[in-house]
Amino acid sequence: MATWSRPAAGTTVLLGALVVFDAAAFEANQQREGVTLAYSDPADALAAPMRTRIIDTFFAAYVRERADFHPGAPSQVRIVIDPGYDGIAFVGEGKGAATITINPGWLAKHPDDIDLVTHEAMHIVQGYPEYANERVPGWLVEGIADYARDRYGRENAAAGWALPTTVKDGQNFDSGYRVTGAFLKWSQARHPGLVKALDGALREGRYTPALWQARTGLALPALWAAYVQAR
Ligand SMILES: [Zn+2]
Repeated sequence: MATWSRPAAGTTVLLGALVVFDAAAFEANQQREGVTLAYSDPADALAAPMRTRIIDTFFAAYVRERADFHPGAPSQVRIVIDPGYDGIAFVGEGKGAATITINPGWLAKHPDDIDLVTHEAMHIVQGYPEYANERVPGWLVEGIADYARDRYGRENAAAGWALPTTVKDGQNFDSGYRVTGAFLKWSQARHPGLVKALDGALREGRYTPALWQARTGLALPALWAAYVQAR
């Protein structure tokens, strides 16, 4: 089901359930499977096909990430397209824990990187109370988000995006992002439930490195060493 709306007056073209307005800003509300997404593109920076891909990618990922990891995660999410943001995309940092901000310039240059939405959607599911400290290490937060991008993403291959299958010199379990994501995937395959246990502990403020040993039988550095050996 889709409802599209915009406060400003303008001519409308009806395409089934889709209402397109000709004013400068684009606002849309859409609801699927118990989740409401407010999509906002105040500068009308992205054309309809990319908008559709963002929205479809969001729902495909978020509904499953939320069901698998944290059914209590927000049911109302916002995506804001902000040409003034010079990074790629982020959640939080003053914009709220349920808002994904995206730089449209990045997607214009890298249209296949659409599953950055899948990574950011996982950050909303994570909803950890802190970031980048002992209780909620940034490398683990980003590693879980890239683990989720690999698991729930739909167009990673087209983007040339994959979790690495080898380990390079200088990498460690706390390298973060794809390096940690690949380590999590390998560890999860041998210890089902590991990523969910880590995620739950991080959310509830009870994460410690000892959790790795409790779940896998190996301390974190030893588990990494076994991973390197296997690769
Ligand atoms: Zn991230």
